[in-house]
Amino acid sequence: MQYDVIVIGSGPGGYVAAIRCAQLGLKTAVIEKYSTFGGTCLNVGCIPSKALLDSSEHYHNAAHNFDQHGISLSSLKIDMKKMIARKNDVIAQNTAGITFLFKKNKIDSFEGVGSFVDKNTIKITKNDGSTEEIKGKNIIIATGSKPTALPFLPVDKSRIITSTEALNLTEVPKHLIVIGGGVIGLELGSVYARLGAKVSVVEYAKSIIATMDGGLGKELQRVLKKNLGMEFFMSHKVTGAVAKGKKVTVTAEDSKGQEVVLEGDYCIVAVGRTAYTEGLGLENIGIKTEERGNKITVNEHMETSVEGVYAIGDVVRGAMLAHKAEDEGIYVAERIVGQKPHIDYNLIPGVVYTWPEVASVGQTEEQLKEAGKKYKSGSFSFKASGRAKASGDTDGFIKVLADADTDEILGVHMIGPRAADMIAEAVVAMEYRASAEDIGRICHAHPTFTEALKEAALAATANRAIHA
Ligand code: FAD
Repeated sequence: MQYDVIVIGSGPGGYVAAIRCAQLGLKTAVIEKYSTFGGTCLNVGCIPSKALLDSSEHYHNAAHNFDQHGISLSSLKIDMKKMIARKNDVIAQNTAGITFLFKKNKIDSFEGVGSFVDKNTIKITKNDGSTEEIKGKNIIIATGSKPTALPFLPVDKSRIITSTEALNLTEVPKHLIVIGGGVIGLELGSVYARLGAKVSVVEYAKSIIATMDGGLGKELQRVLKKNLGMEFFMSHKVTGAVAKGKKVTVTAEDSKGQEVVLEGDYCIVAVGRTAYTEGLGLENIGIKTEERGNKITVNEHMETSVEGVYAIGDVVRGAMLAHKAEDEGIYVAERIVGQKPHIDYNLIPGVVYTWPEVASVGQTEEQLKEAGKKYKSGSFSFKASGRAKASGDTDGFIKVLADADTDEILGVHMIGPRAADMIAEAVVAMEYRASAEDIGRICHAHPTFTEALKEAALAATANRAIHA
């Protein structure tokens, strides 16, 4: 065999798997159909969206929040071209980083679409139509996902767009209609609301970020409405969208079956993502799939129905998150060399990079209730945090859920300033099976936002929060 491992796809799952394989002494190749490495996350996902979220947050603070700090600005304007160029530069820095790491780790890379000839042979079809075959003992499929399409709502990529086009708008929309109140829709909606767009979110479920703890969605909706003027159409079923010139008309049905018509200039369809397996030739070697043929079926070791062929990241079951894909990449590399790695799927944090940020790990209150588990809950509001008052970020709270008998932490759910970074403390604590009292007894620097986690943990322990 030419290679010990061939990885198809260079997103966070694929590139991390490849680097770990190389670190473990395996001769490794990566096949990527695009000209840059990094997949959805680096090119059209996590990184560009965070670059725009940061730029738009600076603008929003300068326009609306500097004044209360005694800073006045006389002429403030948005240079959309420059903002997008900076975002593209951030992407370029990150994707170049992967090229560097592949070279450093002596990983061979091939540009083209990879497809199975047999379980050890991958055909690479290049842009010019030419083909090449390479052979590997083990294959890792890391082909990721693409935006889910609604069959009755064709995306024209100009006015009716997906997250990919929303990262490249050359103007601030006047009225942006976002279909889907999930993470991606709310993050991109926030970007343009901060830049001055009227943003309307149409969501089928009763609550935004519906898979997270119920309290988080409620608070986020309240704050996005209050701070950014975002409008929410909950329990609304979108029935169609039509673009005409610079106008988009979205139609929906409310919970009583009444038609609602929204008119805007852009519409983002953000109703989820679908695993991407097109062109892989899974049928050539009989790899089993699930969920209407989309997701690749894997066992608990990420191995597909064909021995020696693994699949990781968005293309398999579980959360569609970059860090989940990365952990699975490392898991498979270490399995291939006979190690015994472990992933605790209960401890994969979920984050929404709105402001305030939302972050969560472990079980939600809804899940605990459904499982009939006896639990205690302690919450602490940022209104009572000295650090939050100093920065003017008093929206949100932290909630700690702990086992009623043992006090073991079962879930931590937060909405507030820098929640994306703060959730790490809860993940570490839960990894080591800490009790709520453990966090309550750990010294937290003052004044920090993290004190709110200590206070929520104390509240869960025996209603012992000091500042509540
Ligand atoms: P991908 O990143 O999708 O990579 C798959 C790669 O495989 C692609 O480069 C593709 O070109 C390539 N490929 C596919 N088929 C073939 C083939 N046959 N041959 C060769 N190459 C092929 N997640 C987070 O954790 N945090 C965030 O903040 C976050 N923000 C996001 C924001 C947006 C707007 C979007 C869209 C997603 C976001 N995500 C975020 C999700 C995250 O991007 C994905 O979970 C992650 O990229 C999945 O990694 P992956 O390696 O499984 O697949």
